[in-house]
Amino acid sequence: MQHAQYETIIGLEIHIQLATATKLFSGTATIYGREPNTQACIIDLGLPGVLPVLNTAAVAMAIKFGLSINASINKRSEFARKNYFYPDLPKGYQISQHVLPIVENGYVDVFLKDSDTKRINITRAHLEEDSGKLLHESFHGMSGIDFNRAGIPLLEIVSAPDMRTAAEAVAYVKTIHNLVRYLEICDGNMQEGSLRCDVNVSIRKHGETKLGTRNEIKNLNSFRFIERAIEHETARQIAALERGEIIAQETRLYDTTQNETRVLRSKEEALDYRYFPDPDLLPLIVDDEYIAVIQKTLPELPRQKYERFQRIYSLNKYDAAILSSSKEMADYFETALQEISKDTIEIAPTKSTNTNIINTTTANVIAQKMNAAAKLTANWIISELLGVLNRENSDITQSPITPQQLAKLLQRIQDNTISGKAAKEIFGEMLRSKENVDAIIVNKNLQQISNIDELEYLIEKVVHENSEQVAQYRAGKEAVFGFLVGQIMKATRGKANPQQANILLKEKLNEG
Ligand code: MN
Repeated sequence: MQHAQYETIIGLEIHIQLATATKLFSGTATIYGREPNTQACIIDLGLPGVLPVLNTAAVAMAIKFGLSINASINKRSEFARKNYFYPDLPKGYQISQHVLPIVENGYVDVFLKDSDTKRINITRAHLEEDSGKLLHESFHGMSGIDFNRAGIPLLEIVSAPDMRTAAEAVAYVKTIHNLVRYLEICDGNMQEGSLRCDVNVSIRKHGETKLGTRNEIKNLNSFRFIERAIEHETARQIAALERGEIIAQETRLYDTTQNETRVLRSKEEALDYRYFPDPDLLPLIVDDEYIAVIQKTLPELPRQKYERFQRIYSLNKYDAAILSSSKEMADYFETALQEISKDTIEIAPTKSTNTNIINTTTANVIAQKMNAAAKLTANWIISELLGVLNRENSDITQSPITPQQLAKLLQRIQDNTISGKAAKEIFGEMLRSKENVDAIIVNKNLQQISNIDELEYLIEKVVHENSEQVAQYRAGKEAVFGFLVGQIMKATRGKANPQQANILLKEKLNEG
């Protein structure tokens, strides 16, 4: 797809529907999926003589977003009318923000493959109202218009043209998707249109500083479509340039079934919209105090979680990135880990020493155990659980195994009741049946043999039956040790605790 001579320049406009109970300029409800036109009042329909009243909840959410991307919040912003004609726009204009948006100049750091990050600048984010929706299906060849969506608050997030590949663009959208869900300002449901992307793509030769003519692909609502549309559009533009054609500035749509982009209309310049300040709405003024109050409502953000997971649990960047990739995933991880660590903290100071002094050494022991538990939990979530969920095209919110159940399984590995190998078998059983971990261990007879008497008896037997190898070992051929351990594992059908068996065997062999 990519052509060595060219580079692709990508910028995105993401529209998110803000999760307010009522619309941006009216008190009408915003519930998704209601009967068409049951949630549209005279203001949403733009009937003569009505006046819009600004929903301050939407303003608060816009500011919350702005603060989370380290942007400046404009203390004075303005609503403008964006004039165009389309049947889903009853007033003949959309109330939006133009010259003075509420949020300007922020950024997000986006995770790419190989734990790399890239900073994507966000030029602005502005408030505007959503339009109605044309329905083409169920009207005997006619189209209908549903105005339930008209007036729902949108935050349009405009990036700088900082992305160079489809993969980067998708990673950026995922970052925004994750962020707005952490902030609880948008439900992120892309199928329902809560987050929609317009993608701007242009091509230039490497080394050129001037941007090529860009094309905008409208209304992409899945990560896969964003990726495919960009790849397709890149290839199309390169092919056109190679034929010596000039790229025309167009608004295109991506046909998901044909996997191609088609011209929707030649691009309107901003001038065509005849923007002017909306005379029905006063400028929006917010003060420092209000911004400070909203600052206090910010939750721990994905990036902060990512850093904390590395700092507190000593996880590597890769694990931390995956585990902070959604709020639900992070909660799952920390719930499981908390469950496991309960015992760690109780056991360490009281049972491992005979004093009540909790000193640095004790603290280090606990820290080590906690880190080990964190790494174990991370590994099991990432390779085992997500492996299963990805195969079934589902996600952590639909996990058939609760964090408490996973914790139980991992505790049994940690206390040497079962081996890692047996744990995988039990994990498979947990997916199939709803039985608890301990019951599965007993039913399948998967307890590890850690009992010293039992192991010593077995070792005695193995040493006796393999006198030749024992002699070789004692003569200095240490490689034979592995063979003898293998014999113990064989005799126990893999159930001997390997560390314990190693120690006891070595003792036995060194006895003489
Ligand atoms: Mn817009």
